Amino acid sequence: MSTVVEKQNILVQKFGGTSLSTPEARVHVLRHIKRELAEQVKLVIVVSAMGRSGDPYATDTLLESTVLNGSIPSPRERDLLMGCGEMISAVTLSGILNSEGIASIVLTGAQAGFITDDNFGNARILAVRPDRVSRELDSGKVVIVTGFQGQSEAGDLTTLGRGGSDTSATALGAALHADMVDIYTDVNGILTADPRIVEDAKPLAYVSYNEICNMAHQGAKVIHPRAVEIAMQAQVPVRVRSTFADTEGTLVTQSERFADTPTGVVDRLVTGIAYVNNVTQITVGQQEGVEHLQLKVFQAMAENSISVDFINVTPFGAVYTVFDSEAERALAVLEEMGLQPTGLSGCAKVSVIGGGINGVPGIMARIVAALTGQNIPILQSADSNTTIWVLVKKEDMVQAVRALHSQFQLHL
Ligand code: ADP
Ligand code: MG
Repeated sequence: MSTVVEKQNILVQKFGGTSLSTPEARVHVLRHIKRELAEQVKLVIVVSAMGRSGDPYATDTLLESTVLNGSIPSPRERDLLMGCGEMISAVTLSGILNSEGIASIVLTGAQAGFITDDNFGNARILAVRPDRVSRELDSGKVVIVTGFQGQSEAGDLTTLGRGGSDTSATALGAALHADMVDIYTDVNGILTADPRIVEDAKPLAYVSYNEICNMAHQGAKVIHPRAVEIAMQAQVPVRVRSTFADTEGTLVTQSERFADTPTGVVDRLVTGIAYVNNVTQITVGQQEGVEHLQLKVFQAMAENSISVDFINVTPFGAVYTVFDSEAERALAVLEEMGLQPTGLSGCAKVSVIGGGINGVPGIMARIVAALTGQNIPILQSADSNTTIWVLVKKEDMVQAVRALHSQFQLHL
């Protein structure tokens, strides 16, 4: 039995980088804010830094600018710099609201109550104490919160890592018992595949927390998986939608709630296709005289903090992937142990995700047929209840994603 928490008539809106990057985009942002205020909701707005890498105030640009000058700040100071992008966005937005006569206040992550550990650059949220946010909302203001940041118990500014503003938004939504968290971005919701790769990818009206969590973990970067996990724990519904349109986008909720959908049920075999680029496949074959080879390999990876994925262990050895950026180090560690690993760099992991694939005969045959039909070699494969993964060469990735998308007719 879950306890029913009374809703507070609070809406959290999160605007991503491209939604804030130009004056034209900010006109759309203002439109969404005004529409919701007309509905008498209390509004909390979480902002990302403006634009993407290369844009003047984007987080990556801020980082590169210091590196270019030859100086390398320590992690604590680096976080101070990384937190600046969101502050610039937040102040810009508050200026816009001022000129529209809409009362607002900007709160930093710390002021909004985000307490984190002190793992600078990738801090974990320990607690959210949004008392100040609630007070400002009660006084009738729109509260603008700088996403992606928090404060350690010692009082230092920390940042939450990639996708951190999504996490800020859902964590705040959870702490405030918000009715809804709207993630505004540059696409029409969650699609059956990345629209940059699959032209006829289709927006999904409903997905369950589990489905999108899986998709996000497998590389669909439209929302960060941590953000979904937090929303799921608190059962806060999330909508992923476009800043540049008035469509409702994708509602992310528990699958039980699908009973409320127009058709009463969402029963699909495959939800979507996702991909992760730039991984290296490492193969370590069983060697004469080496005992517990598999154990030694994975212990060595763990001791060197190299994260491993796509693991197949067999009596003949072990095959797994690491990010290209860590491959050289991983191979060196194995060689130092007297093993003879081989590395195949420039691979991509392509995933077919769907709650309906569990035990359905013929799915793997369709995947293999789709890829062999395009002459794409499958380097490795694995499956779980909800996902089937294949490893392909990076140059085959786009074609593989498209072939699988059309094999499962996801454009329909
Ligand atoms: P924001 O700056 O708003 O956080 P992101 O770049 O983080 O935006 O996320 C939006 C992008 O996610 C889209 O432009 C799209 O290319 C990409 N994307 C990847 N997979 C999917 C998917 N399955 N559905 C929608 N978008 C996806
Ligand atoms: Mg994002």
